[in-house]
Amino acid sequence: MRMKHVGIIGGGPGGLMTAYLLEKMADTPVSITLFEASHRLGGKVLTPRFHHVPVRYEAGAAEFYDYAHFDEDPLKDLIAELGLSIGRMGGSAVIMRDQIISNLEDIREHLGPHAQRELTAFDQLAKDRINPAEFFHSDHPDGAPHPPDDRRFDTLLAGIAEPATRQFVEHLIHSDLATEPHRTSITYGLQNYLMNDPAYMQLYSIVGGNEQLPRELAARIHATTLLEHRVERVDKQGNKLRVTSHCRGVSRTDEFDYVVVALPHNSVPNVTFAGEHLSAAVREHQSHYDHPAHYLRVTILFDRPFWRSRLSDSFWMLDSFGGCCLYDESSREPGHSHGILGWLLGGEIVREMSSWDDDRLIAAALDSLPEFLQSGREHFLEGRVHRWVGAVNAMPGGDVYHNLDQRHRPEPRQHAELLFVGDYLFDSTLNGVLDSAEYVASCIAGELAERSTVQTTPLY
Ligand SMILES: Cc1cc2nc3c(=O)[nH]c(=O)nc-3n(C[C@H](O)[C@H](O)[C@H](O)COP(=O)(O)OP(=O)(O)OC[C@H]3O[C@@H](n4cnc5c(N)ncnc54)[C@H](O)[C@@H]3O)c2cc1C
Repeated sequence: MRMKHVGIIGGGPGGLMTAYLLEKMADTPVSITLFEASHRLGGKVLTPRFHHVPVRYEAGAAEFYDYAHFDEDPLKDLIAELGLSIGRMGGSAVIMRDQIISNLEDIREHLGPHAQRELTAFDQLAKDRINPAEFFHSDHPDGAPHPPDDRRFDTLLAGIAEPATRQFVEHLIHSDLATEPHRTSITYGLQNYLMNDPAYMQLYSIVGGNEQLPRELAARIHATTLLEHRVERVDKQGNKLRVTSHCRGVSRTDEFDYVVVALPHNSVPNVTFAGEHLSAAVREHQSHYDHPAHYLRVTILFDRPFWRSRLSDSFWMLDSFGGCCLYDESSREPGHSHGILGWLLGGEIVREMSSWDDDRLIAAALDSLPEFLQSGREHFLEGRVHRWVGAVNAMPGGDVYHNLDQRHRPEPRQHAELLFVGDYLFDSTLNGVLDSAEYVASCIAGELAERSTVQTTPLY
């Protein structure tokens, strides 16, 4: 049988996972070409080092979501298959009004008994609406716990009468949501609240840096990888899909039997999908998921982890910047004498702050340290900033969930061989992008197998 050619646009986790799974699943020969606009593979999974001392920190995706206590966990299985070790992560405290609030007793002490009762009631409401099994299945078309509810999450939070409790919940989830409550659904808001409960979800990271996941995938695939090749156009010529890319002023066009667009939703409009029918279908696809959310990371190296006598988890939430997550990045690699704190800011405030220069952002991060840690500023060595405006999704899956084929094939009639992979089709996480890659790889592998059977079956 003739070798089939597959083009994959985007060398982030989604593109790499699709290539890896397709090579594993296909029982007919497949030649894959992977187009990546930047100089590196891995997309938003990025583990750089400081200049001052070459210690690592996570600049993009910080943790992996562990669902192994429910059922199969394809991402955890993949990480194990790649021979990578994992380390547990955890954190339960919100630092609010300069107090560490870790449990209901702390809420009672620092915010009052009424605040405690209100939080208990909200917690029960959240658990009644989504139980752990529903949470696990919720981004699948049949798994949505309730019929679509077009109200936004702020309408539910408005039911919390005590302002301190409402603020506590908002600060707890703001950095996970990466958006404001009025820009997301009740379901996604509740999921982000419930994921703080270990009965719903646990967290881990890869020992030695999360970027090892894309690196190990890249090392195992046989694809032709074209770095610094920005794809600008996709069109159909006869029964082939054509991909036009640019590298340092030089343009090339390649023809494929299948093309997989493994781009985040905010990059899709940068590619021209030619032809009236196709461009309208891709526009519709993009606008269904067009709920941009924003992140900004400020990561600071200190000569020692001065906070450890007061705080010992992997992360805490802070009441600054509308609620942000403060990671003890140095807890990922115990044994270092240095300390690293990483601020993950999310939501609308990021749009404005991302235009600030790095020094101003680093100063703002240091200013946000709670009073009891302010003296630690003197241990500052180096700060780094990573801006991720519009890079994640505020309402993954859109207002109304589509079935799996609709999600992945925007124009199934004349362009059935053009498929999309993305975390925005599921839950805006690496687990979601793997589900998406697996669906697309199995579609292509299945269709190739079917064609080869038809071609090799004798007519009589
Ligand atoms: C700050 C931050 C924190 C996060 N934290 C977590 C977390 O803790 N846990 C979690 O599970 N997920 C997290 N995520 C989400 C996670 O990073 C994504 O789910 C994942 O990176 C999606 O992979 P992807 O391949 O779809 O997209 P990307 O990682 O964005 O990769 C897309 C690739 O396509 C390339 N590209 C873009 N345009 C073109 C073009 N025209 N031609 C060719 N190539 C192109 C890009 O350069 C990039 O390499 C976080 C994201 C951010 C920004």
